[in-house]
Amino acid sequence: MERRIEFNTSWQYSPAPESTDHIVLSKRYDNFIGGAFVPPASGKYFDTINPATEEKLSEVALSDEADVNRAVESAREAFNRYWSKCLPAERGKYLYRIARLIQERAREFAVIESLDGGKPIRESRTVDIPLVAAHFFYYAGWADKLEYAFPNRRVSPLGVAGQIIPWNFPLLMAAWKIAPALACGNTVVLKPAETTPLTALKLAELIQEADLPPGVVNIITGAGETGQALVRHPDVDKIAFTGSTEVGRIIQKELAGTNKKYTLELGGKAANIIFEDAALDQAVEGIINGIFFNQGHVCCAGSRLFVQESVADTVIRKLKDRMESLIVGNPLDKNTDIGAINSRQQLDTINSYIEIGQKEGAELYQTSCPLPERGYWCRPTLFLNASQSHRIVQEEIFGPVLAVQTFRTAEEAIEKANNTPYGLSGGVWSDKGAKVFKITSKIRSGVVWANTYNKFDPTAPFGGYKESGVGREGGLHGLLPYVNLA
Ligand code: NAD
Ligand code: MN
Repeated sequence: MERRIEFNTSWQYSPAPESTDHIVLSKRYDNFIGGAFVPPASGKYFDTINPATEEKLSEVALSDEADVNRAVESAREAFNRYWSKCLPAERGKYLYRIARLIQERAREFAVIESLDGGKPIRESRTVDIPLVAAHFFYYAGWADKLEYAFPNRRVSPLGVAGQIIPWNFPLLMAAWKIAPALACGNTVVLKPAETTPLTALKLAELIQEADLPPGVVNIITGAGETGQALVRHPDVDKIAFTGSTEVGRIIQKELAGTNKKYTLELGGKAANIIFEDAALDQAVEGIINGIFFNQGHVCCAGSRLFVQESVADTVIRKLKDRMESLIVGNPLDKNTDIGAINSRQQLDTINSYIEIGQKEGAELYQTSCPLPERGYWCRPTLFLNASQSHRIVQEEIFGPVLAVQTFRTAEEAIEKANNTPYGLSGGVWSDKGAKVFKITSKIRSGVVWANTYNKFDPTAPFGGYKESGVGREGGLHGLLPYVNLA
């Protein structure tokens, strides 16, 4: 009898969705001001949706100037009454408590982050939420050691910080902003992005539970106009902004001539450089992680690739093979590599760049994976034979689109990598330590990774050169924007 063994060459994973049974979302969220949830003055709300299904998850307050005034007043009062009188070690205790509560509720936060923003649960669970807790733990430690951070100086807080954040790492950006501000003795008014407000509002509930004095942290929701009102408020001492270079410029103009301090963490167009002596499989894995991680919604995404000519064919073949295995789909499925694009608007932007790239003459390559019917999706995309003058090489796309170019010499790679208005991050892949050090020192970016990519740690400062921003967040450097030194 003939025995036939069938090999399925395109085997697939069975669905493995994370459960949502344990998630409690209210139908409607108010602003968090003075330790309580209060309705917006206008009585208006707007929807936040799940970009993977286009279904409404909840609605949140549409805040205007009246709400901003109320939040800033509450932050000022909390600063005067409680926070500026609180012993530094006590401030630290509150931050430790927040960090521990986040760890306890990590799964809930991870699921909500994926529901509201579209990122794969694998990332929100293993990257975003653990880093949120790590940032609170790290800055908790500094709260009573500021005199060691700034020896022989008298350190005092600024007062009230207004903080405005984007949608790509919603809770992580909130942690980057809130933790150092509180550690240094400031109170805050935070405005999350309009498409991803839910984890920040859940954080508000957690902060209530942590029994933080009322008004030390205030969270108000809304879009650009709400942010603008916060930037313009005369009683705010500092603005911390993360978002696009375009909005960063507007804010910088608004703040010119005022006494407000500011930090701006803006866009990027990072280059990864692969030398012929690199461990190529490892490099390909790093490139994939660098641009397809979080749908390319990463300010430091490795969106440009420079490959040394002698290995270009091999690298491109390996890249295409690896891309073909990436799963695009349900963010709550543990096997998903690439989740939903955050909004219809962002998907339109990405698609318009994919058209522009083709018109400019670069060669398009996209994988053949199936896409869900509803929701916002983009296949992992390569542009081969891109050139320096192409808009897809010069402009931030903020999606899973990688522009590939080749080079012959190290000098050429450095020159091309630096030929951008941005300077946030970069990556170098080589087996030779001396070469790595030489190249990394010549890349004009705030962060340069070597033989790895997209690695974050609360102890490491982060921030850009040129049009990628002003100031540093993270590490000891991240305390500086929140203190006066005498
Ligand atoms: P965005 O600039 O449109 O919005 C960011 C935030 O600013 C949102 O909360 C928005 O409501 C608010 N805002 C919009 N207009 C405003 C105004 N006039 N005044 C005050 N606030 C205003 O950016 P986005 O599309 O949400 O995020 C993507 C951008 O963020 C990308 O360019 C990315 O590179 C950048 N980003 C940078 C970093 C970094 O650390 N450098 C980190 C994450 C994202
Ligand atoms: Mn949403």
